[in-house]
Amino acid sequence: MHKEFDWISSRAILYPNDIAIIDATTDDRWTYSEVDRRAEVLATHFVNQGIKKGDRVALLAPNHISYLDFLFAAMKCGAIFVPLNWRLSEEELSYVLGDAEPTLVGVHESFHRTHEWLGVFGQALEIAGNSYIDQLPTYTENIFQKPEIDDKDPLAMVYTGGTTGKPKGAVLSHQSIFWNAMNTIVSWDLKRDECTLTSIPMFHTGGLNALTTPILLAGGTVVLESDFEPEKAVKNLIKYRCTIVLFIPTMYHMIVQTDAFQEATFYDMEVFLSGGAPCPLSVYEEFNRKGLSFKEGYGLTEAGPNNFYIDPEMSKVKQGSVGQEMLFNEIRIVRSDGEEVATNEVGELWLKGKHLFEYYWKNDEETADSFQGEWFVTGDLARKDEDGYVYISGRKKEMIITGGENVYPLEIEHWLQSNEKVDEVAVVGIPDDKWGEKVAAFVSVKSEDVTEEELIRFCELKLSKYKIPKEFVLMAELPKTHVGKIDKKALLDDYAITE
Ligand code: ATP
Repeated sequence: MHKEFDWISSRAILYPNDIAIIDATTDDRWTYSEVDRRAEVLATHFVNQGIKKGDRVALLAPNHISYLDFLFAAMKCGAIFVPLNWRLSEEELSYVLGDAEPTLVGVHESFHRTHEWLGVFGQALEIAGNSYIDQLPTYTENIFQKPEIDDKDPLAMVYTGGTTGKPKGAVLSHQSIFWNAMNTIVSWDLKRDECTLTSIPMFHTGGLNALTTPILLAGGTVVLESDFEPEKAVKNLIKYRCTIVLFIPTMYHMIVQTDAFQEATFYDMEVFLSGGAPCPLSVYEEFNRKGLSFKEGYGLTEAGPNNFYIDPEMSKVKQGSVGQEMLFNEIRIVRSDGEEVATNEVGELWLKGKHLFEYYWKNDEETADSFQGEWFVTGDLARKDEDGYVYISGRKKEMIITGGENVYPLEIEHWLQSNEKVDEVAVVGIPDDKWGEKVAAFVSVKSEDVTEEELIRFCELKLSKYKIPKEFVLMAELPKTHVGKIDKKALLDDYAITE
């Protein structure tokens, strides 16, 4: 067992009495030594239940201390932690469980899916309240032999968002999670007095690894919020004197519309972070207007949520940029022949570093396609400006080629979102006999009197002719994926049916 990889016990030695985790619903608090003890107890239970190194332990729960119990217990006994997306339908969850084949499934009491059903996939462990740990059997042989753990042994398997297809199990090793956290601490200067609110789902890499694990490695405090509600999130940021927080754009979109946000003064807050999907510039503006630091990050399940760093002040100058690469990772932006692009030229983003995932679970083909040597091929497009600041241009698969011209939906989405009558926008390419693909915009609007002609005129103020959507579909609300991103797949499917 490499000592650095059971880092929760080293934190417990360094900061035994500091508060590591707070449950915002019950206000229960746990010190570092209590968090470490809980993980030891759970790991002992796992081992006594016959769980061996490499076996999967899954968890179905809202944001809750059990995520950290499971993660740190897996760290100690060599199991692989599989957080489950509770927004999935029974059929989708069956797919994930059938794929992961867990030996044990932890089920939080708030889920009324029966244990019987989950029991098909592995023995069920009921997570009844925060003190479920104390209800576990006491084992006379309380100490288990810690296994030898190599840096690249799996620690967690996190399923991707499924935005572009079926979710894939990205296997994160002990070093992936450790180096993502180290990189974040060093590059973002996280300190022991840091406090964050984790409202974004912890079954997602953003909830688990953007700030939660880095702050726990740094010795700070993580406040867990089990259900996101914008007013409540604002109040908890203030109540717990949070210094840093990450929400996805959909959440920010809801937060900025609340009175609580408009009236709040965030005295302790150093920076608000956005990630997981492109953030509308109107959100940046709301924060800038209140004099609050706001910056956008970029990441993926496979490469951890944090890959870039930008100083919040610079974020105002380089609006829309995710920043420069962090200390312990490397980036390349390449053309289709693998050669690096010129300054400001858009190409595919590749990432390298110890924070990368190891492979896709049971999917060698997809794994092979995703790597070029040590480089992970993200499938996203980006450009780097003359000062080395990177701008994400969107997904490669979503780039539209219309009449031979390349169109990046994000540019059009950003512009349309800056119209005060527009709420959310998704720009997609639709097969077209004349143009190959035509640009179409699905728009949810704030006021009902908006017309297509008006939106076209607005686009003409800024966009070249070939980028202006040839079709606008106005709707009340845009569909979202299970992780809260705009679901372009669903939009296209519905469009195909109604056409
Ligand atoms: P799947 O891989 O299953 O299709 P997914 O790509 O949504 O789902 P995630 O790992 O949840 O899986 O999300 C990562 C993706 O989110 C990135 O590849 C990128 O396309 C998008 N993304 C993340 N941050 C940003 C950002 N700041 N700007 C634009 N896009 C972003």
